[in-house]
Parts: sequence; structure tokens; C-alpha cells
Amino acid sequence: MAAPEEHDSQTEVSQPAGEEEETKTFKDLGVTDVLCEACDQLGWTKPTKIQIEAIPLALQGRDIIGLAETGSGKTGAFALPILNALLETPQRLFALVLTPTRELAFQISEQFEALGSSIGVQSATPGRLIDHLENTKGFNLRALKYLVMDEADRILNMDFETEVDKILKVIPRDRKTFLFSATMTKKVQKLQRAALKNPVKCAVSSKYQTVEKLQQYYLFIPSKFKDTYLVYILNELAGNSFMIFCSTCNNTQRTALLLRNLGFTAIPLHGQMSQSKRLGSLNKFKAKARSILLATDVASRGLDIPHVDVVVNFDIPTHSKFGSGEQLYYQPTKACQFSFLRYDVELFQRIEHLIGKKLPVFPTQDDEVMMLTERVTEAQRFARMELREHGEKKKRTREDAGDNDDTEGAIGVRNKVAGGKMKKRKGR
Ligand code: AMP
Repeated sequence: MAAPEEHDSQTEVSQPAGEEEETKTFKDLGVTDVLCEACDQLGWTKPTKIQIEAIPLALQGRDIIGLAETGSGKTGAFALPILNALLETPQRLFALVLTPTRELAFQISEQFEALGSSIGVQSATPGRLIDHLENTKGFNLRALKYLVMDEADRILNMDFETEVDKILKVIPRDRKTFLFSATMTKKVQKLQRAALKNPVKCAVSSKYQTVEKLQQYYLFIPSKFKDTYLVYILNELAGNSFMIFCSTCNNTQRTALLLRNLGFTAIPLHGQMSQSKRLGSLNKFKAKARSILLATDVASRGLDIPHVDVVVNFDIPTHSKFGSGEQLYYQPTKACQFSFLRYDVELFQRIEHLIGKKLPVFPTQDDEVMMLTERVTEAQRFARMELREHGEKKKRTREDAGDNDDTEGAIGVRNKVAGGKMKKRKGR
């Protein structure tokens, strides 16, 4: 591990980009021609704020702390300087990027490969690196030049601290390190002191910033009718793509089955699914073959899904999450977000306090919602049945936890719920 350096109070803070900086090009930032062309081909006409701040400093060889979220262009902010340096001194195992989830690792590797396509860059997402370090003969990271820790707050919140410490011990001290995080928790500061040398801080957003034009609504409902209100919202906003956050794997699975029984093209993404199923779900949603992705927070934060129109926080964040300074919500880059609230008014007021504004109540026609109750109740019953049958089948066959879990193969009882996909009533 790199010797801890006490430079917290002295950490330089890069000056935020001013207006004239906004017109900068990748070339102005010092990015080499072949990579500028790659940016161009990806349609990146000009660098984003975090790229304007971080790239020149990274090219100077500085360690970087990036306070930036998904959607800010942070991957490009660390990938371009790394590729720039790799072009100067090509070698194997040049950079290591640590991420909290495999999906995020894939997403980052895609960007590396897209930016590095003309120079033949190869990337791999081997899963738990520690397993390779401990078990793969001849594998080591002694020549590593760059370490990136992306979504560091999440890496640490997911109890990967020991693993990170182990990795820091087996990579060279003489390296460049970039640490990106949406929040600067105590654990992240500790990691920063242990792993970075004289870093510069580049921040492009405040802790609980929300997207400028994001419309936010909340619904205050008796939990008995939560599913019904969800179906109501999905109907009202039919034609959009939805990402629905649930707090547990079980509720993710249950709600996906429920919605599929009503004819919606819903697909789950959670930690009890096998890796291939998780990627499969994500890709189907990204390819717009499914319009509703139901996910646990853990499985999905940080994923870049450009076309999400509506985000539904179906299970309101819990108290414990507040305490850790976690990001409260997934924030879509456009459109709107709904938060379902049960009884905890106090908790909701705290959210409003944290984000600094009142969240308007979404106007629902309660009589119309109630008209959905019967069909939703029936679909709930089928979903419960499918969950139970699925559980029993798994027990019988001792299948791998992920083998049957994407609800796509669910037994088709949804056809029994009359009418298939719920249509909006005429005359609305
Ligand atoms: P990230 O914040 O790294 O997850 O990136 C979010 C999205 O922005 C990705 O789809 C990138 O391809 C895209 N992106 C990154 N940099 C730029 C840029 N300079 N111009 C346009 N899009 C970009």
C-alpha cells in the first residue's frame, strides 16, 4: 500500500471551468490526434466539464480525485489520459479499473474499447480480481502504471475494503491513481490518503444535485395499493421507458412478474441473478426490447442507460442509507422521477431538506386507480404463485440461483389475466 500521506487539508482544488473553457476541444486539453478522432467518431463533439477539468491535470501526471456522477462523462475523463499515455509507452496490463459491480466494469470496458479501437486496445473484465491474483499462475500487476477506482464510495460501502487493501499492496507505488466518487464519505477520504499522492480535486456537482430539468413527484399512498398506483403510473405514461427501483431482490422479482402478468414488458436486474442473466436483462432494456427495468439499488447504481425516461423509486430509501451519505436516488438525465412514500412523512421531509426543495405530489385520479384494483390483485396472486413454483422448482433441481430468474421463462400465467396489457381508458 502506498504510504499514507496527510494531505487532506492541502488537496488542491481545480478551478471550475469558466465560460470560455466551455468552448475547449479535446485537442486543447492535450489529447493526442488519434484519440481526438475517436472522440469525434463517438459523437463527442466537445469535452464535458469533468473532462475539461481532469484531462489536462491527468496528462501532467497528477493523481486525481473526481467528484462526479454517471452521466458527467467521467469515464472519458480517466480513459483518455490513460490511453494517451498507453500510446506513448505501449505495454500489457497498463491500467487497472476497479468498480463495485460487473455491469459497471463492462460499461467502462466498452468505452475503453470504443476510444481505443483504432489502436487495438484490449480490455478484460475478469470479475473478482483478488481471485486471479491468488489463483492464476503467473498473473501479477507489477508493471501497472494506472489505477482507477470508480464509484469508490460504493466499492467501500459494499465491504470491498479488505480487497482494495490487498490490491494496493501488490501494485507498484510508482503509479498514477484516479479516484472517482459521487460522495466523499469518511471511508473514501481514508482510501484517498492511503492510495493517492498529492491529488487534485475536480468536482463538477454538489452532493445531492439533481438534473436541472428533472421533474420530481411523489405519491403518498397506503402500502396496500402500492402496486395499483405503480400500474396506474405505467399506464399514464405509457410509451416511455421506466427504471423502477425496489429495495430487495425478492420485491424486484415479484414486481417484474406482476407487471409481466399484466402484459408489460418488464425485466428484473438484481444480485440473486447469475451474471449472464443480469447482463442479458440490461442489454434487452438498453436495446429497447423491454420498456421496464426493475432493479435493486445495489445492482444498478452508476449504470449509464441513456434512454431512461422515467425513474420510479418504488421503495423509499431507508434511514441507514441517509446515515452513510449515500446517493439518494438514481438520477435520470431527462424526464421525471416518482418516489413512492408510505407512512414515513418525517423521512420524506428529510429528503426534501437534503435536496433543498419541496417535491410536488403527483396528481392521481384516485377513482381511476381504484378501477385497476381487481386486475392488479389477480396479477399479484399469479405473481405469488409463480414465485412459489419457481422457488420449489429451484429446490427440487438445486439449480444455480440465477438459472431461472429473469421471469422471461415464467410460466405464462399472465395470459390468464384478462385483456393482456392494460390500455388507457377511452376518452382520456
Ligand atoms: P459516464 O459519465 O462516463 O458514465 O458517461 C455518460 C455518457 O456520456 C456515456 O454514454 C458517454 O459515451 C457519454 N460521453 C462521455 N463524454 C462525452 C462527451 N464529451 N460528449 C458527449 N458524450 C459523452
